[in-house]
Amino acid sequence: MTHVENLVGSRGVSEEWPAWTPSSLIERLADTGITAAWSHQVVAADLAYTGNNVIIATGTASGKSLAFLLPCAAAVTDGGTVLYLAPTKALAADQLRALEELLPSPMVAASYDGDTPGPDRAWIRSNADYVLTNPDMLHRAILGRHTAWSSFLRRLRYVVIDEAHHYRGVFGSHVAQIIRRLRRVCERHHGRPTFILASATTAEPAESASRLTGLPVRAVTADASPRGALSFAMIEPELTDQVGEKGAPLRRTATAEAADLLAGLVAEKVRTLAFVRSRQGAEIVALSAQRALRDGKAHELARSVAAYRAGYLAADRRQLERDLRSGELMGLAATNALELGVDITGLDAVLVTGWPGTLASLWQQAGRAGRGGSDAFAAFIARDDPLDTYLVHHPEAVFGRSVESTVLDPDNPYVLGPHLCAAASELPLTEADLPVFGPAAEAVLADLVDRKLLRKRPRGWFWARRDRACDLADIRGSGGPPVQIVDTDTGQLLGTVDEAAAHGTVHEGAVYLHQGQAHVVDTLDLDEGVALVRAADPEYSTWARDVTEIEIIATEREQDWGDQATVYFGDVRVTRQVVAYLKRDVRTGAVLGERPLELPERVLRSRAVWWTVGQEIEERLRGEGVELRGAAHAAEHAAIGLLPLFATCDRWDIGGVSTALHADTGRLTVFVYDGHEGGAGFAERGYAAARAWLTATQEAIATCECLDGCPSCIQSPKCGNGNEPLSKAGALRLLEEVLARA
Ligand SMILES: [Zn+2]
Ligand SMILES: [Zn+2]
Repeated sequence: MTHVENLVGSRGVSEEWPAWTPSSLIERLADTGITAAWSHQVVAADLAYTGNNVIIATGTASGKSLAFLLPCAAAVTDGGTVLYLAPTKALAADQLRALEELLPSPMVAASYDGDTPGPDRAWIRSNADYVLTNPDMLHRAILGRHTAWSSFLRRLRYVVIDEAHHYRGVFGSHVAQIIRRLRRVCERHHGRPTFILASATTAEPAESASRLTGLPVRAVTADASPRGALSFAMIEPELTDQVGEKGAPLRRTATAEAADLLAGLVAEKVRTLAFVRSRQGAEIVALSAQRALRDGKAHELARSVAAYRAGYLAADRRQLERDLRSGELMGLAATNALELGVDITGLDAVLVTGWPGTLASLWQQAGRAGRGGSDAFAAFIARDDPLDTYLVHHPEAVFGRSVESTVLDPDNPYVLGPHLCAAASELPLTEADLPVFGPAAEAVLADLVDRKLLRKRPRGWFWARRDRACDLADIRGSGGPPVQIVDTDTGQLLGTVDEAAAHGTVHEGAVYLHQGQAHVVDTLDLDEGVALVRAADPEYSTWARDVTEIEIIATEREQDWGDQATVYFGDVRVTRQVVAYLKRDVRTGAVLGERPLELPERVLRSRAVWWTVGQEIEERLRGEGVELRGAAHAAEHAAIGLLPLFATCDRWDIGGVSTALHADTGRLTVFVYDGHEGGAGFAERGYAAARAWLTATQEAIATCECLDGCPSCIQSPKCGNGNEPLSKAGALRLLEEVLARA
């Protein structure tokens, strides 16, 4: 255990309802036992009521829904309409249920999604006051038919964007453009809605909300809701005798540690939920905990530990909830699938096994412990990688002010182009519209005209084809025809993965997880766009390795750190090739072997952050015997591992290249680039947070207790060079010099 944070409970600060709250809503709230608001709800509601776009970024279960319901109910009472957007259909359905209890009759709330039957759609368009939908429907079904929505849009007073932190990366960039199209269409119908966003706590919520909507947004972040005390432990599994690549020491796996803790807590009758990344992992944790209990003093409790699988039927889930509540079940190991769809209350403890992707998810999971005001325990168990290692040694990154910000890049031309086509097909685009779509719009329009997608006429730009323009944008993919993943045994389509990601995730021999169930890929046919897989329970996981070259196309920004170190941001061309994959034991993490692959090169136009050092530093380091290539390479690996702390990306969304001498800079250079066509905003965020990011990178390497480098600091499981050469001491000296005048 590296740290315990004791988070004190609070009683909450309540306030009277705003004077403008409809009395019928106050009555209905009183019926459900709610008689006052928390002060942050009132602040946010008042801002929205007076016409300010606002984002409420507070903790789990802090009553964000009520905060936006107050002004929305007032608007509907006054003859206005509300459009509510959720990232998933399921979430919109949950909202609708809650809303139906509270919305004063005869006001009508309805969900409008892919399952809504045709005849209902027309009725909803002309009668609903409060429409719940998702960005996909807005993009494909609502904006293109805006004239049919004219009366709804004319009266539109609020657009609610719930769970706004989900709109990140390429998907977030698409949604940002859909919102710009919505704003333009509303304007045409004389509707001028105010935007209300709800989000988990992140850094710079006002800035990300403003990027998403294209409008100025005020943030409400002070959380005045009550909560119980929480003891939160940070745990780093110990080093073992196992060795990995190049003889690096390996830590005990996070799942083995989680199983022991789960058994120990259950033996003390502490009701515990353990979150594990894969279904296979969840099953290993549950089985090992049962075994430990059976062999110990509390053997009668072995039966009260279970694993939860995604894909359970609703009835099974309800049974599970009942068993946990009654104490029949004391311990549960579950995948993140449990985050949605199961209502578990009365837990005493939560274990989070490995970084769940974002700080928002970490708190969402930990927030399950001790609801209802009772005190609780949570633990984060580090996996063997640089980010997890950094966190257990720097608890302030978790418990201090959040540095993670929701990152998106609406100006990405690959995203913008299809939405300009869709916009032109909704209403011809005019010069006056251009500022709505941002500074890149003009250049992208010219390109669309050249490609005969749009036609320029005196009155503006028109959609030049007969098919549907909205089909050009695949908002949940990242462009290119997707590869279909098909189960050979059942013929069932398990899912799709975009072509760019296919090389690294569904190559021959890859282990592919579908809803926590492992599959092994038999063949990948890139011409046909199909990967054939079969269900299996291999004892190993696979990691693709690629080799990468990078060219600088244009430098957009730069900052000098003294006269010997410079950090840049700009456009790059990346050539990548997946060349092999590594097999690792799921239980111990030990490397079992490496297999070569034959896949074609892929060229990616993207954006990168890079830094260089001058001659003086190079000579000084060389004089000290530092091997520059190994130093740069090690710094690159660790920096990639740490970027997800600052930008909401996965380590797989980004890549890196390092060299002691790059042809374009003529110097030692380390690049970190966005792995998506056109970029996704991650590298840009890295540039903006460069000082803090590289400082964290250096600290992560410095605090690792290994001698020459290990997976917790500088080794990367996806390194195309087989983690050669790497120099831990060299990376520390290099980063020290780079940061010396930062
Ligand atoms: Zn290490
Ligand atoms: Zn590498």
